[in-house]
Amino acid sequence: MKRELLDILACPICKGDLRLEVEEENEEEIISGKLICTKCGTDYPIEDGIPIMLRPELRK
Ligand SMILES: [Zn+2]
Repeated sequence: MKRELLDILACPICKGDLRLEVEEENEEEIISGKLICTKCGTDYPIEDGIPIMLRPELRK
């Protein structure tokens, strides 16, 4: 995902702002890492460049 995407993404649970934690990135985008909600603390993984914006109970 592009870093700019962080500006438009919000927590699907509480609509809070997300904080980005990068594990791996290239010149263009973030490959892996996670997005953490600053409000409710839920974290969402970024896998293969795609943020998985699902509530934890929907992830399998
Ligand atoms: Zn939240």
